[in-house]
Amino acid sequence: MSQKSITELFVVQDFFDIVGGKETIELIKICERKRKAFTDEEISKKMNKKVTEIRAILNKLHFRGIATYQKSRNQKTGWYNYTWELNKPRIAELIIEKQKEYLIKLNEKKSLEAEYYFFDCKKCSERLPFEIAAEYRFICPACGGKMDTLNDPQMQKDTIKKIKKIEEELIILEKIKE
Ligand SMILES: [Zn+2]
Repeated sequence: MSQKSITELFVVQDFFDIVGGKETIELIKICERKRKAFTDEEISKKMNKKVTEIRAILNKLHFRGIATYQKSRNQKTGWYNYTWELNKPRIAELIIEKQKEYLIKLNEKKSLEAEYYFFDCKKCSERLPFEIAAEYRFICPACGGKMDTLNDPQMQKDTIKKIKKIEEELIILEKIKE
């Protein structure tokens, strides 16, 4: 578990999508595998993307403190080379924030699921607690479909499992952060 890549953790995919766009998670995976500093040209070759696109992502990551770079002048060409590195403690810190938010939502969901029997519309995705569904005489207020109870203990189990997993991941992330 402690050998796990940071990209496999909960909420990480969503997090990187928001921070740097859809390509970001792949970029992070490549950088993680390299385990040392890298140039934008290397990444661009690996991902088969233009250097400018890679730089755009890296700049977004830099803005959030996730990636850092060092600049050096190439003596022959006079151009600057940028060598990048991932800041893993910072990634851990940001993921912890996200996971804690998600954990709050999951815990609310858990207590809600324990408190009510839910009724689901068979036609659309409307879902109501028993009391409200009964007020509508078990006819979906959104589409008029019939509402039925799912009464699914599996769903509660799934929520509890997710909560446990995130709590485990938080312990690992706290170690990376240090
Ligand atoms: Zn409906």
